[in-house]
Order: sequence, then structure tokens, then C-alpha cells
Amino acid sequence: MEKSLNSSISQAALEERLKRVREAVSEAAVGAGRQPEAVRIMAVTKYVEAGTICRALDAGVDLIGENREQSLSGKYHAIARDDVDIHFIGRLQTNKAARVVRMVSTVQSLDSLRLAAELDRQAAAYQKRLDVLVEVNIGHDPGKAGVDPDEAAAFVEQLRGYPALCVRGLMAVLPLGDSEAVNEGYFSRMNALYVDIQAKNGDNVNVDCLSMGMSGDYVQAVRQGSTLVRLGTALFG
Ligand SMILES: *Cc1c(COP(=O)(O)O)cnc(C)c1O
Repeated sequence: MEKSLNSSISQAALEERLKRVREAVSEAAVGAGRQPEAVRIMAVTKYVEAGTICRALDAGVDLIGENREQSLSGKYHAIARDDVDIHFIGRLQTNKAARVVRMVSTVQSLDSLRLAAELDRQAAAYQKRLDVLVEVNIGHDPGKAGVDPDEAAAFVEQLRGYPALCVRGLMAVLPLGDSEAVNEGYFSRMNALYVDIQAKNGDNVNVDCLSMGMSGDYVQAVRQGSTLVRLGTALFG
């Protein structure tokens, strides 16, 4: 099931790719009148082994995303360092929440109150504040996770009832295969939702993260306001 990408990629090659990605992000940000530093670059490591992840960290990566609990658990001890931030970005079953809460700063894929309740319970038990992003199904794709865009703001309101969680923003995965023009509409709608939700700041809502853009479309996402791009193949493929 898991395909394995380029497990032998060198640190020098990773430095080169990271440099190219940073340049593309910078150019897109500046072109849109934004600060390049306002965009974080996440290395999505679901298809790569711990050894490669360690080389990526040595190459300058400081933010890692994993989408399965098992995959993360298997690599965690090799990759956990004080200077690396780890986020969970995949579908999360409530029975895996306890383990994930111990390993990550942020769950980007929150889309149900049932999961919110369990994450809150586990974070409280572990005496930590867990950052969360609300995943939005911006393309109304029946095969994808996420709350309906029209319900995102109300969902954020409901998350005020979970004090061990801190709502930091929104995340989206676009449907596959749409045109650039259609994707631009999705990204700009996400940015509008993000701005709306920032107006709710207070209590445990402290919104500063809009996670959108993957290897195929991150430049466009940055132009439309992304503050965090999630890159797998652009770094490791
Ligand atoms: C795999 C994955 C990515 C990275 O995809 P690439 O196209 O390889 O950059 C980003 N976000 C999520 C949620 C993923 O599962």
C-alpha cells in the first residue's frame, strides 16, 4: 500500500530541492505583496523512511507532516528533535487519537466534534494544549474529508467548548484534476473563510494558519494567501 519514494536521496539533493522550493515560495509571496517568511514549508514524509527524514532535517526542514498514525509511530523516535515541529495531516480515527496527541503539536485534519472531543480529552490527560486546524472540503468532494465550507465558521464556534484545543486555522486538500482556474477559486474561497474565522479570535481561537497547496499547486496557493504549503514529491519524489 505504501509506496516508497527515493529512499536514497542525499542531503545535498534535499538541500537543493529545499532551496528551489523556498525560491518559488518567495517569488510567489513577493509577487502577491506578501512576506516570504509568512509561508511555512512542510515536508510531507508519508512515503519516506526515517533515515531520509533525518537527512531532510539536516538539510534545513523544520516542519514534518505525516498522515497515518502507524507510519508516524514507526519513525517517531528517529525524527523527534527539539527543533522539529510535527503535524498530523491525515484522517484520524478516535482510537488512535491518544498516540497522535503525544507525538504532534498540531492536528490539521479536524472535521468532526466527535474527534474534537477525543482530542480534547487526550490533550487534557497529557496536560498539553493541542493546536488544531479545521479541514474544509472546499471542493465538496464526496471522497474527501473535511467540513462543508458553509459550515466551517459555525464549526469553529463549536470548538470553543474544548479548552485543551487551540484553533489555529484551516486546512484544505483540493479535488484532483481540476483546472488551474477552478483551483484558484477554491484557494481564494479558502482565504475568504480564513479571514472570516480570524474575526472570531478569542478564548481558544487564535487563527494564523491557512494550510493549502501541495507539490502540484503550491505556487498558486501562496499567491492566494496560503501560510503553510505541504510538500511531498517536490522534496522527495
Ligand atoms: C501526501 C499529502 C501531501 C503532499 O502531496 P504531494 O503532492 O506529494 O506534495 C499534502 N497534504 C496531504 C494531506 C497529503 O496527504
